Amino acid sequence: MDDLFRPPRGNERPGADLIRYQSFILHARGAATMNDNAANPAGETAEAGSLNFIEAIIENDLKTGKRDRVHTRFPPEPNGYLHIGHAKSICLNFGLAEQYGGKCNLRFDDTNPTREDVEYVDSIEEDVRWLGFSWDDREFYASDYFEQLYQWAVQLIRAGKAYVCDLSPDQMREHRGTLTEPGRNSPFRDRGVEENLDLLARMRAGEFPDGSRTLRAKIDMASPNLNMRDPVMYRILHAHHHRTGDRWRIYPSYDWAHGQSDSIEGITHSICTLEFENHRPLYNWCLEQLGVFHPQQIEFARLNLTYTVTSKRKLLTLVKEGHVHGWDDPRVPTICGLRRRGYTPEAIREFCRRIGVAKFNSTIDMHVLENAIRDDLNRRAPRAMAVLRPLKVVITNYPEDNEEHLEAVNNPEDPAAGTRQVPFSRVLYIEQDDFMEEPPKKFYRLAPGREVRLRWAYFIRCEDVVKDSDTGEVVELHCTYDPATRGGNAPDGRKVKATIHWVSAEHAVPAEVRLYDHLFAAPDPEDVDEGKTWLDNLNPNSLHVTTDARLEPSLLKGRPGDRYQFERLGYFAVDDETRPGRLVFNRTVTLRDEWTKLQKKGS
Ligand code: ATP
Ligand code: MG
Repeated sequence: MDDLFRPPRGNERPGADLIRYQSFILHARGAATMNDNAANPAGETAEAGSLNFIEAIIENDLKTGKRDRVHTRFPPEPNGYLHIGHAKSICLNFGLAEQYGGKCNLRFDDTNPTREDVEYVDSIEEDVRWLGFSWDDREFYASDYFEQLYQWAVQLIRAGKAYVCDLSPDQMREHRGTLTEPGRNSPFRDRGVEENLDLLARMRAGEFPDGSRTLRAKIDMASPNLNMRDPVMYRILHAHHHRTGDRWRIYPSYDWAHGQSDSIEGITHSICTLEFENHRPLYNWCLEQLGVFHPQQIEFARLNLTYTVTSKRKLLTLVKEGHVHGWDDPRVPTICGLRRRGYTPEAIREFCRRIGVAKFNSTIDMHVLENAIRDDLNRRAPRAMAVLRPLKVVITNYPEDNEEHLEAVNNPEDPAAGTRQVPFSRVLYIEQDDFMEEPPKKFYRLAPGREVRLRWAYFIRCEDVVKDSDTGEVVELHCTYDPATRGGNAPDGRKVKATIHWVSAEHAVPAEVRLYDHLFAAPDPEDVDEGKTWLDNLNPNSLHVTTDARLEPSLLKGRPGDRYQFERLGYFAVDDETRPGRLVFNRTVTLRDEWTKLQKKGS
């Protein structure tokens, strides 16, 4: 029954593979400055400032007088948490309303009580708000319209346009035909109006078991469009609904509920994803039969991203089967996962703007999303020093009990962010990776006998290497510093080839740091060998936790959600699990490898 009843799922669209890497970006403002053609692999970019195809439709409607206003809606089904794909739809619907001085409703498409939950309603509201959009008092539910939908079904029966069908789900499927063969009429198709009305009322009253009958639209079993072959309008379902309780024993199908809900709300442009294109004739048919206000359905390409999944069903599997630690696991592309990871609403909105609106499905490279947050945090995130894998350094010529505070710039991109003091003392930690006993040619950082700059501090030279006598592992470096280089420059003009970060051992704050890699090991998780599933493509190394990290003490003031750039390492956000005495950070994204370039220049 379910496949005749539920809306199409995005990942089932036919031909998706063929067009996966084709993209026809009709709206890619900003793409030219992205340095990242992934959003637009075909290289078809609209002129900056030109309209995307939906804007063009809207402007034409306003110009011709077909519409005198713009009213959109975002219609989530409360059966899971919102993901980055939904963000695209939210930005589009709320964005168009803002742009044209119109309105956007939040409408919960709650027609399937078996999968829905208030937990999801709450999370969806929180996420839309967090993204920066407001539906004011226009929060609606398809279930608000159940009575009206029922009355309209009665109207269709009276007009001879709907009938109660007693075929079982299997029989119905069998009568439906295929893409190449027409369907066959149901033997119940020509039931009289009175009988249909009586049966529908009794279905509503709960007289019949689940699945025993449906109400179907009487359209055309020979239509080349399978959706027009007498689609189901109601099914019997003895299920408790999170809003209507036990009042209803029949529930409307997506196709019967959606267009009519749009009409009731006066939606002018009903924007949905491409898998609904084949449903548009049915959308129009229902509205035409009823003779009510007729919104226009417009389809756009759903967002797919490499190395991840944007399907609620799959995300639910990941969460329920414990492949990730909940809906807000920073590895999953849910809005709450991205938020916890350190993404800002501004970066997500900018990402949606950059990828534009397309008419054909494509897959966007994960780098486009990562670049959006990098650009945003580069401007905004205060800098700090943190050492993830500490190596002890003793500055042998620095006085034992001395300590001093060195001035560090908080954000070179934002002079208003000011400076802070960073403590320096005789024993420091540097990154294990920043030292090599036998450095290869292009390694410019610390090595025996070599001098480097400590960021915001002094030049130091490695004089001696202390090893564990059993393992031979380097456990400590003995270095000397040059007091004349305070602040980072030598008065005699001598240069060093690398600048490394550090923390003072005595002052450092311990922290747990979670480093994330792609959730899936393959760009397309669906790309699997015979006998395997997308779950086999999960990246076993998507999470790496270190509890040894040492941070500069200014990071103690970090509160959940605060974001920083750890110099040379990337952007990091304070995790929700942070408690007094236990700091936890999530790596949002690594830095571009600009640092490497900088080092080579010897800055
Ligand atoms: P999923 O396939 O993940 O279950 P869905 O389409 O069933 O998603 P809904 O809650 O029905 O999820 O979606 C609400 C709105 O968001 C719909 O208009 C839908 O078309 C849109 N949407 C969902 N996924 C994407 C996506 N990947 N890209 C763009 N829009 C999307
Ligand atoms: Mg849907």
